[in-house]
Amino acid sequence: MEKKSIKTQEIFSNEEEKTLVWENIQNAFEKNFGSEVYSSWLKNISLLKEYNDYLVLGVPTRFFRDWIVSRYLDKILSLLKTFKNTINRVEFKISEENRVTTTDIFKDNAFNKVTEIKDSILNYNRLNPNLNFDSFVAGSSNEIALSSSKKVCEQVSRYNPLYIYGGVGLGKTHLLNAIGLELEKKTKVMFISAERFMYHFIKSIKKNDMVNFKDFFRQSSVFIIDDIQFIRGKEGLQEEFFHTFNSLIDKSSQVIISADRAPMKLDRVQERIKSRLAGGLVVDIDTPDLDLKIKIIKKRLQDIENQFKESSNISEEVINFIATESKTNIRELIGVLNRVITFSRIHKKELTISDCKNILKDVFNQAKIITVDKIQNVVSNFFNIPLAEMLSQRRSRPLARPRQIAMYLAKKMTTRSLPEIGRRFANRDHTTVIHAVKTITRLSEKDDEMRKNIEQLRSLLLEE
Ligand code: ADP
Ligand code: MG
Repeated sequence: MEKKSIKTQEIFSNEEEKTLVWENIQNAFEKNFGSEVYSSWLKNISLLKEYNDYLVLGVPTRFFRDWIVSRYLDKILSLLKTFKNTINRVEFKISEENRVTTTDIFKDNAFNKVTEIKDSILNYNRLNPNLNFDSFVAGSSNEIALSSSKKVCEQVSRYNPLYIYGGVGLGKTHLLNAIGLELEKKTKVMFISAERFMYHFIKSIKKNDMVNFKDFFRQSSVFIIDDIQFIRGKEGLQEEFFHTFNSLIDKSSQVIISADRAPMKLDRVQERIKSRLAGGLVVDIDTPDLDLKIKIIKKRLQDIENQFKESSNISEEVINFIATESKTNIRELIGVLNRVITFSRIHKKELTISDCKNILKDVFNQAKIITVDKIQNVVSNFFNIPLAEMLSQRRSRPLARPRQIAMYLAKKMTTRSLPEIGRRFANRDHTTVIHAVKTITRLSEKDDEMRKNIEQLRSLLLEE
């Protein structure tokens, strides 16, 4: 463990005014962002310098900085303001940048730190016992994915890898988790999100501990990796993933992968990786039809009745209403149902459709407040490009399309005017925004891929 605090103290020894206690802020980070994001990213931020209106914060690598800036900056800033309201910006300095070189990545290292990796993996990658096959409801949109998942459990490595893809909230993580629980009974299972895999990868590079990283991930007999689309655009990570993947397949370990899109649609992923991902069985999960939605609602109501021994007071009519109105995904459907159940419990009555309409107004009328900032963040995350680059003047297609999509969504999902939107996109002219809206409208009419991307982004934005 390196102690960055020593550095911080050195800097403060010839001190100007210092009012912030960094430890308190770190605690607030943990509370507000959750322990996973905190320990993966924010814990590594140190306070280097404090000025009246801004802070200089230290991060270990450029990658960390980009990651933090593109995902968490807004929230970090508003949190900092609660400690000191004069702060209106932060600057990041890379405090240990030169430590990581490409040769380091493959350098041998005799230290055995497997247990350390293991502990932190076990802490963050426990299988959720509730996400099992029994709680997964079958329907026409997921039956092939479900039966393939079950088959994998019966006969390890018949389909290798099994690749499951589909939009957000459709049950991918649930299925992966169910497979993990099933196989855990007989063999050694590793279940990890691609984001977390990357975190360990970077941490191992920083610690010069790649050997153990490799060993650790290659040990498992079943390797389950969720949301593989995270590797897009990250060359070093892809390389490492590819080697891990190959050595697992070579020794007939079962690999199960989920993603938000088909293997060949993973842009900015090396061709050889895409074709290996597609080399086993590829199945998709589609949006649920009415029948499945009703089944899911009924199953949950039944579970609640069994658990609490009380009837839920939700009529067929209301079930139908919720199932028809909730169009985005199963996660949303369950969220809506939970609200309705809570309401009926509190008011101890059978709900009417008009009660439901009232309870769910914000969900169904999309009255949720969506800001241009939020759109920019979600879009840059989705396409896996740094926010700063998406807003920059560069015109290459991989930046220009996401930028246009973000402008399009800003026009469609907020009440901002065209000139306002232009200003928020690094002071562009409103005609640029008009052009973007036209282009994306046209593309989403004729291009399936574009239409799907827009749908997914909309549903991401409407999520809580
Ligand atoms: P994804 O990983 O595809 O974004 P999740 O697996 O997290 O989606 O699913 C979102 C929520 O919907 C979870 O609570 C999950 O348990 C539930 N869910 C999804 N599909 C089903 C299903 N077929 N039956 C029961 N619950 C489901
Ligand atoms: Mg998931």
